[in-house]
Formats: sequence, C-alpha cells, structure tokens
Amino acid sequence: MQKALFLDRDGVINVEKDYLYKIEDFEFIDGIVELCRYYQDNGSKIFVVTNQSGIARGYYSEDDFAKLSKWIIKEFSKYGIDITKTYHCPHHPDINGKCECRKPKPKMLLDAEKEFDLDMKNSIMIGDKERDIEAGLNAGVGKTYLFDESKTIEKSKATKIVSKLEDIYKC
Ligand SMILES: [Mg+2]
Ligand SMILES: [Zn+2]
Repeated sequence: MQKALFLDRDGVINVEKDYLYKIEDFEFIDGIVELCRYYQDNGSKIFVVTNQSGIARGYYSEDDFAKLSKWIIKEFSKYGIDITKTYHCPHHPDINGKCECRKPKPKMLLDAEKEFDLDMKNSIMIGDKERDIEAGLNAGVGKTYLFDESKTIEKSKATKIVSKLEDIYKC
C-alpha cells in the first residue's frame, strides 16, 4: 500500500480566485512545489481533490477544467513532481441537488483509495476550508492540515492549522 498526499486545488495549489479556469489567471502558491517534492520523496502519491461548482453554474465547462488540469500537471512535471490523478466534483447542491462527491463527502478520496490501494491512515489531506478537512477525516486520512494564510481561522478539526505550507513538513 502506498501513502497519499491529497491536495485541495484552489487556495492550496493556486491562489484562490473566484471560478478560476484560465491558465493566465493561475498563480502557484509559494512552497507548493517544495511540499510536493518532500512528500513524493517520502513515497507518497499525489492527488488533487477539488470541488468545481463553476461547472454546474455554467461559468466554465468540463473541457475548460480538463485543459487547466492538464496544464497544472505539466507545470508540476517540469519540477519532477508527478500528480497521479485529479478528482473533481462538478456539481452544486442548488443546481444538481445533493451529490456523492462534493467535499466534505469523502468519495473522491475513497475512489483514489480503491483505484490505487492507498494507505489512508498514513496519508495526508491539505485544504484551505474546513470541508476539505472533513472530507479527509471522513475518508480515514491520518493527518489533515488547514492552510490559512490570513491567520483568521481559530478552530478546526484539522491536525494542525498552518499559515505557511512549509510548516506542514518542517517542524
Ligand atoms: Mg480550496
Ligand atoms: Zn459532486
């Protein structure tokens, strides 16, 4: 069994911008490449698990999302980082009703567990919203980190709240 590093996308990999889908609007967050390298070197597979309700809302298409995802994977590969797979939820409850995949539900992570035979207890989830943390906990992920650059979040079910990505692995 292999360990996994599960990453939320917006607000963890890239600077959060509302309903981002254009490459030119995409801005990597400081330290994300180094963090991925650290966990990859430690034997973790890397996954992106992201809610993309902009698709349900019609702000961008599945195709737009796929194009950006492909570009992100290519950018990471320039640094020797291998993103194994991107999972996304294209739904929004107001439009589609309740779905099975939107975080805090754990389905995206559990799908990865099934597909890649992952060791969830020794895996990590990083998100910038409490629902990311809950998705990790609901999937049985051992360590969860809430990334809060603004240092405004005081309470979380996460293992730790961090304001810098490097605080996750440099302690
Ligand atoms: Mg986010
Ligand atoms: Zn969904």
